[in-house]
Amino acid sequence: MTTCLFCNIASKATPAQIVLENEHVAAFRDIRPMAPVHVLVVPKAHLPGIHDAGPGDAEVLGRLLLAARDVAERLDLATGGYRLVINQGPDAGQSVAHLHCHVIGGRTMAWPPG
Ligand code: AMP
Repeated sequence: MTTCLFCNIASKATPAQIVLENEHVAAFRDIRPMAPVHVLVVPKAHLPGIHDAGPGDAEVLGRLLLAARDVAERLDLATGGYRLVINQGPDAGQSVAHLHCHVIGGRTMAWPPG
């Protein structure tokens, strides 16, 4: 068990509804879904947020986005479309300091976001 919630979910120390997992990433249902499909994809390696990433993290970031795409495919969002969101810092409303990509779909969404 660590002090990071998403590290604990990725290591299965904390339960979550996992929808996809590989050596590098875990994807699980958001506990407070904002749409019929709302999944979070996290790298297993801890990074507090996107702004902490550097050139050495290019592979991790690529794997994160590909996993988000695979979640959308697996949960039948490909036809209707979906939104990927990464919140960074307080102005964006980031509430968990472990990089995560929201995969949101299953309904029509507004733009611009609030
Ligand atoms: P953000 O606001 O971008 O940092 O997103 C954090 C997300 O984590 C929010 O949408 C929360 O609903 C979600 N969340 C918080 N705790 C859990 C948990 N234990 N399991 C799944 N999702 C969670």
